[in-house]
Amino acid sequence: MDFLRPASWEEALAAKAEHPTAVPIAGGTDVMVEINFDHRRPEYLLDLNRIGELSEWEVGQESVRLGASVPYSSIMEHLRAELPGLALASHTVASPQIRNRGGVGGNLGTASPAGDAHPALLAADCEVEAESVRGTRLIPIDAFYTGVKRNALEPDELIRAVHIRKADGPQQYSKVGTRNAMVIAVCAFGIALHPETRTVRTGIGSAAPTPVRAKAAEDFLNAALEEGGFWENGKIITPAIAKQFAALASGACNPIDDVRGTAKYRRHAVGIMARRTLGWTWEQYRGAGRTLEGAA
Ligand SMILES: Cc1cc2nc3c(=O)[nH]c(=O)nc-3n(C[C@H](O)[C@H](O)[C@H](O)COP(=O)(O)OP(=O)(O)OC[C@H]3O[C@@H](n4cnc5c(N)ncnc54)[C@H](O)[C@@H]3O)c2cc1C
Repeated sequence: MDFLRPASWEEALAAKAEHPTAVPIAGGTDVMVEINFDHRRPEYLLDLNRIGELSEWEVGQESVRLGASVPYSSIMEHLRAELPGLALASHTVASPQIRNRGGVGGNLGTASPAGDAHPALLAADCEVEAESVRGTRLIPIDAFYTGVKRNALEPDELIRAVHIRKADGPQQYSKVGTRNAMVIAVCAFGIALHPETRTVRTGIGSAAPTPVRAKAAEDFLNAALEEGGFWENGKIITPAIAKQFAALASGACNPIDDVRGTAKYRRHAVGIMARRTLGWTWEQYRGAGRTLEGAA
């Protein structure tokens, strides 16, 4: 196995163009497990750790440009206000050691349906900045996950950053696991209220071949909130609306039975998490979070 150590982003892109089968390594918390267990024996490892800019972020007017290798611990420490859903999801990843090494670029590279960043990214809305020597493109998160542990990257492309829409309302993340830490999600749910556009977005983890949004649940809720003038009047969401939202979120799942849980349990748990996280975020919105004109 050859170890490629580019000193700059340009060198990394050139190395990936020359060796498209080279496996990038950032924190190594997925890659090294696969190598240690002999699940993968790449011809080349492409070490991204000398490229400092991958561990940096910029907070803009509308979005945060998060370098691919920014570790979860930095997101938790520095970006809680701008990216609350992702910060909450980061809290649930593994242990402090893993959170100091692993980041969102690696989670996206692995594209496991159980990765904790995905539901938060889907709910917040973001674009993945992918680059090769051929140029840069922004991949909408909805188009990024293409199959079980598959993503939309071309063989010569690397993830440089993720452009995540800054929170304009409350966000939540909920995860079911067999214990409170160091655990892969049995299933997970992310939700983001977007008062500026009067929409709610969601993300489901570990309950379908890829991370998915509960689109029918979102459409139903968005219409119900609009119709009832909820964004303006800040009324409590009725139990009937919350129940239907939960049922539709459950219906968005396409899970399997495996060692972590049954398909039936996952559908049930996603419905519960959808109802609870909607309640939490809406309560927050009704309180300090409500910023729209006319809100009383
Ligand atoms: C003990 C343990 C517990 C864990 N618990 C959790 C958990 O609770 N939740 C969770 O979501 N994950 C968990 N993981 C998995 C892992 O920590 C995460 O997926 C993490 O986000 C990976 O980031 P990394 O930087 O270490 O990626 P790496 O291992 O370096 O890379 C992961 C994949 O992404 C690719 N890649 C990395 N950077 C780039 C880039 N810039 N461009 C293109 N491709 C790239 C790599 O080639 C590889 O395919 C756990 C891992 C371990 C070992």
